[in-house]
Parts: sequence; structure tokens; C-alpha cells
Amino acid sequence: MTTEKETTGKPLDFIRQIIAEDLATGKHSSIVTRFPPEPNGFLHIGHAKSICLNFGAAQEFKGRCHLRFDDTNPDKESTEYVESIKRDVHWLGFDWGENLFYASDYFDQLHNFAVELIKRGKAYVCELSGEEIREHRGTLTEPGKESPYRNRSIEENLDLFARMRAGEFEEGSCVLRAKIDMASPNIVMRDPVIYRILKSNHHRTGDKWCIYPMYDFTHCLSDMQEQITHSLCTLEFENNRALYDWVLDTLNTPNHPRQIEFARLNINYTVTSKRKLLQLVTEGHVSGWDDPRMLTISGLRRRGYTPASIRSFCQTIGIGKRESWIDMGVLENAVRDDLNLHATRVFGVLDPLKVVITNYPEGQSEELVAQNHPQNQDMGERVVPFSREIYVERSDFMEDAPKKFFRLSVGREVRLRYAYLITCQEVIKDGDGQVIELRCTYDPETRGGSAPDGRKVKGTIHWISAEHALQAEVRLYDRLFTVEYPDADKEKHFMEFLNPDSLTVLSNCMLEPGLAQATGDDRFQFERQGYFCLDARESTADKPVFNRIVTLRDSWAKITKKGA
Ligand code: ATP
Ligand code: MG
Repeated sequence: MTTEKETTGKPLDFIRQIIAEDLATGKHSSIVTRFPPEPNGFLHIGHAKSICLNFGAAQEFKGRCHLRFDDTNPDKESTEYVESIKRDVHWLGFDWGENLFYASDYFDQLHNFAVELIKRGKAYVCELSGEEIREHRGTLTEPGKESPYRNRSIEENLDLFARMRAGEFEEGSCVLRAKIDMASPNIVMRDPVIYRILKSNHHRTGDKWCIYPMYDFTHCLSDMQEQITHSLCTLEFENNRALYDWVLDTLNTPNHPRQIEFARLNINYTVTSKRKLLQLVTEGHVSGWDDPRMLTISGLRRRGYTPASIRSFCQTIGIGKRESWIDMGVLENAVRDDLNLHATRVFGVLDPLKVVITNYPEGQSEELVAQNHPQNQDMGERVVPFSREIYVERSDFMEDAPKKFFRLSVGREVRLRYAYLITCQEVIKDGDGQVIELRCTYDPETRGGSAPDGRKVKGTIHWISAEHALQAEVRLYDRLFTVEYPDADKEKHFMEFLNPDSLTVLSNCMLEPGLAQATGDDRFQFERQGYFCLDARESTADKPVFNRIVTLRDSWAKITKKGA
């Protein structure tokens, strides 16, 4: 894979600038970054930004990037999540090689570091309840109050911490806190909890531990342990940087990674918080973590997004310091741009209307040649069968058509793409007046789609030979939420904004027979309809299921503009 730097020629973002400088000045001879997910859910598009930054920068600057599971909260974590995260990072096109780590690998060291802090008089066992600790913490405008347990002797703290570890105390009865400054203007520094009792089974360490380190204590020391040079995280950790540095300074560690914060990715019309995504899954509003409407990596994969399009999207949005919202259309454009170049063109009739070509011999069929990509001859040709009965899109027929309607209506001639010119002669209706069939005639002289006499036919439509058609289910997706910022409303829960029409199932679509060979890795443009791919998981032998990845153009933006 070529790196983002080589392909764009764009100026370096502020993090890459720092890295370039650190290499130029010799502060580091090579760089080490890490992507540190907590295995408590599936990765989403926000994580992709962090993955592309951490793995991307490491690649560009010939350093390395670690994948480290931040698994310090056994109640919410599982091996299933670990495996899904590994799969997703690989699928995005990145590789950690040998450098797969778990914070839980460091539980022994972390415990020793905690003991060391106690010995230096920098940590104490506190018996205030969680509630009381919060009350003591103070506010942005008021300093906190010191815990009555703050000035225990080192010996007493060592003894109590050993007994915490031995399982003598109940969950919630005491914690280990760093002894920093209850009056610090930075609330994070007001004696943060660094160890808590949790009598839970851990997915990797089993029952070995009944105390678990907190994120702030674990993260900096894990970075240090792995000799990370640049620890890149999102802006909400800005205040935590002081604690990150305090722990490493106080323990006087042999190296001290630099934490740098960047703006997280926010996309409108969706939620990207694992907690909220989990709620959508557990309450059954979506079919799973990989529901094609979810902006999880696995959802995007099933929807048909390509890894390249997601990397390109991350490159487009860039890395900055200011919080901002990215329009969903930017993500859709990224996949559209990629598929426009690479997707094979085919025919698919989503809402079929039967057409009988009355002057085409019964029982006859022929093979016509179609381009796989009209702008790219290298993608070659294919043959599509043609016969007396075909399907066209219902919307390509209009009974009382205005003058400018250049498709099918009685007396009008249209081009069947790659086939013939046909003229509509008669409309057949059922008892309810519903149009069920069109009778047309074709001009045998127009094979391939052009008339030898040079007469002009404006409209061109797609079609499928009825006897050869592959019947399929096609699923169309819209945004999962009806409002731009579903989780920003103070009064209403984000669930109240779920879009009831986010999934449309078309169960009787007619596709080119060649699509029977499609695999989940192929992507197609159904001409005039959008980009589609096989949903390998949902398809059955009888009925393939195709997902619409994205429409051809940003029709949605147009509609909202018109509506506005
Ligand atoms: P969430 O808020 O979705 O639960 P998280 O931050 O708790 O996510 P982690 O597993 O801790 O999830 O995240 C791993 C890494 O991904 C962190 O370094 C985090 O900063 C980064 N990350 C998470 N969400 C985003 C986002 N929206 N944009 C950029 N980076 C993100
Ligand atoms: Mg987190």
C-alpha cells in the first residue's frame, strides 16, 4: 500500500509535523505509535480515524504501530470483541505484525508500580464511598476536600493495598488513590482513583486478580512499557495529560512518551459511541453490530464500503485540534469516488414491469455485448441475454407522460441499452387498473442501440431478459436517524430519533444472470440505480440478497435542499 503522504502531497498535519521534527532533531531515531481500543464493543468509523493516523503515520515514517487492548474493565470486555477488532484493523489494511499487546499483560508490573507509588508517599487507600469521593472532588470553581484517609502511614497503606489484592475487602469498600492535589484547578488531578476492587473474571487473566487498575494509571504505563514515542488520543483526554505525565514523572520511568490530542471524528445523522451502538444492538433496533446501517467497521464492510474508501475518507477529513462535525455525505462521496472507478457496471431492475416484444420471435434469444465500464475499456465486456419478454423499471413507464418524458409511454420509442430501440404499443392492466404489462415492438435494424437511418431517440433504459433473470432481494438503506445530531438533544433520548424508513426491502428484483456468481467481495454499479454488493451472510441458495452501498449521486442532499 502506498502511504497517504506519498499520494497526497498535502502539507503534514500538526501531529505528523511534530513527528517529523522529533526525527529531524534526533529526539527519536524511530517512532512508535499505538492504537489502544478497549475490547468492549466493535470498532466504528471514529476508530478508523485513529487507526489511519496511528498505523498510517508509523508506516510513513518507517516506525511501528502497536495494537494494544486496553482491557482493564473485565465486566464489559470479551474475547469476541478482541477478535472483531483484530479483524477490522486487518480489513482496513493495517498490520501490527509482532506488536500485539494487552494492558492485562502488565497487571503484575502495574501492581508493582502502584506499590512503588505508595512507598514514595504518593498513593493511599481510601475508604470513602464512590458517592463521597465525588462529593469531595469539588467543582470547576471550588477546590476539593481532602479524604480523611489521605494521611495514613506508608506502612498502613501497603498493608491495606496487600489486603485489597488478597480479596479481603468487598467491592466498593475501598480504592487506591494517587495523592496529588485536592485543590488543583484540573479536577483530574484531585487524587484520582488508580485501583479498584472488582471480583470479576477477566477474559485473559481469569480469577488471578480482584483489583484492577484504572485507565489513567494503566495507559501511560503501558505506553511507557512499550516505549511508545507518540501517544495520540482524542481531545477529551487533554486534561488527563497532566495525570499521564505525573504518573511517569513520579515513578521516574526510564522513558516518557508524549501524549498529543487531536479532534475526534463526529459524523451527523449517526451516533458513534460504543455504549450507544451497543444499546441499538441489544434492544434490537438493528440486526447486529454489523448491520449495514451502523457506522461500525463491520457494518460498513457488510454494506459494501471498501477499505480504500474509508482510508481515503480519513485522509480527506484530516487531523486537527478543533472539534467539528463531518457531513455523512463526505463519507458517502468517498465510497462513491472509489466505486465509480472500480465497480463493474451491470443491469438490475429493482421494481420490475414486464414488457412483451410482440414482433420478437417466441422461443428465440440472443446474446448482446455490454461494457463492464464505459469509461474504462480495460475492464472488458460481458454478454447479456435478450429475449421476447423483458423487465424494465416501473418508473421508466408513464401513462400520461409529459412531453419531456423520454422513456416509455404509448407511441414513444426508447433505447434498451446495448440492445434495440423499442416502441410502446399497448398497456395491459389488471382488474384494479394497475399496469401489469407493456406490449412493445422492436426495430430489428437497431441491434446495439442505434438506428441506421440516424433517427434520434433520447431515452435509454436498462432491462433484464425475463427468462434469464436472477431473482434477488435488494435492500436499500437510509440514515439511521432523522436528525443531524441525535445525541445532542437535552430533552430527548437519541433513540427517539430513529428513522423508521432506514431500511427498505425490495423482495422481487430482477438482475443480470451473471450476478449469480457474485461474491461478497465484488461491487457493482447497477446502472442508474447506485452501487451494490452481495450480502454474503444473508443470501441463500434460492435467493441472493444485495445491499445498496450508496446511491449514484448525493440525491439526499438535493432533496433536503429542495425541501429547505
Ligand atoms: P467510544 O467513545 O466510541 O466508546 P472509546 O474512546 O471509548 O470510544 P476506545 O476503544 O477507548 O473507545 O478507543 C480506542 C482509540 O480510538 C482511542 O485512542 C480513542 O481516542 C480513539 N477514538 C475513539 N473514538 C474516536 C473518534 N470518534 N474519533 C477519533 N478517534 C477515536
Ligand atoms: Mg475509551
